[in-house]
Amino acid sequence: MCERPGNLRQIKVVERASLGTLFEAIEEEGYTIVGPTVREQTIVYDVLDSPDDLPVGWTDEHAEGTYRLARRDDDALFGYVVGPHTWKKYLFPPRIRLWSASRTSQGFEVNEEHRDLPKYAFLGVRACELNAILVQDNVFLKGPYIDPVYKSRRRNTLIVAVNCTQAGGACFCVSMDTGPKASGNFDLALTEVIEDGRHYFTIEVGSDRGREILGRVTGKDATKAETASAETAVSRAESQMGRVLDTKDIKEVFYNNYNHPRWDEVEKRCLACANCTMVCPTCFCTTVEDTTDLSGGQVERWRRWDSCFTTDFSFIVGGSIRQSTRSRYRQWITHKLATWIDQFGTSGCVGCGRCITWCPVGIDITEEARAIREKEPVDTSAGAEP
Ligand code: SF4
Ligand code: SF4
Repeated sequence: MCERPGNLRQIKVVERASLGTLFEAIEEEGYTIVGPTVREQTIVYDVLDSPDDLPVGWTDEHAEGTYRLARRDDDALFGYVVGPHTWKKYLFPPRIRLWSASRTSQGFEVNEEHRDLPKYAFLGVRACELNAILVQDNVFLKGPYIDPVYKSRRRNTLIVAVNCTQAGGACFCVSMDTGPKASGNFDLALTEVIEDGRHYFTIEVGSDRGREILGRVTGKDATKAETASAETAVSRAESQMGRVLDTKDIKEVFYNNYNHPRWDEVEKRCLACANCTMVCPTCFCTTVEDTTDLSGGQVERWRRWDSCFTTDFSFIVGGSIRQSTRSRYRQWITHKLATWIDQFGTSGCVGCGRCITWCPVGIDITEEARAIREKEPVDTSAGAEP
């Protein structure tokens, strides 16, 4: 985890041609670098060997239910927004064996799990994603139950944030006060600048560990002009947000509208496919499955991601509590934007926009929240006033 740096804010400038020395300095510390790369026309997170593995010259276009890669007219490395993957796949794996047991002549013997403890450097963490990691820290590390899997992985992780210099069509981090600039809790934070034929990065130190690494990277102290250019680039992203979500009295908006007619409208469209929860960087529902081999001599217990959109998720004695899609969508958005605040002290949404982009029918959390806020539903029947 990131500790506070010992002294003043330090910003270094590293030219694009020298960025490989950052990779080398991180790897010398024993980290495996994971970050954005292009696979099957999507930007995903995977192991990176060098800056050339980044999405060089690619951007992504987002709208409700739509995602497309497109070529940029420059060779930016971080000129995209976010893809369908989130860092939770490393900190909170989609599927993990909790324990296993073998039958012996004395009965069953539980086998201890010997886990590999990966040491990851997350390269390219956006400000909204950094906030999503903090949201999951609250859930897994600060409540009455500490999740040992998350704890061991999180402790070992180096965070290299990248400030956004452009926003996507589904982004609303400004509304959620989570971006587009990383404001802390990172080891290093990069801002990419391409201007006047020059391509460089300002790199800000956020921890002593980050400072040590940056000390071995080829570069020089940033000038005022270089820092100003980086700040201008981030301001550009701030003014480009594709979406807005009004968070004023947001808890009351949902608590006072359990029976709003909009829930019936969204039910007609929602497929209960659970995509929105799978791509969300803060969703953390899981289920537990037990398996045995054919002889019954070996048993295993696995934890895997689940979703509040499945009927089984709320199954208790006598059946499922949330049988209708209406009740499951209402549960999801009310938890994200209202009950999460009472439960964990923060919103469960960081405004990354993934649930909007990856919803196959284009349901938009900001649009649904706006409709719930409007007490009188808009009449969209023929002849109605716009
Ligand atoms: S609810 Fe949607 S916009 Fe909010 S953090 Fe999750 S995926 Fe991102
Ligand atoms: S809101 Fe969209 S992504 Fe989420 S369950 Fe419904 S159809 Fe699937």
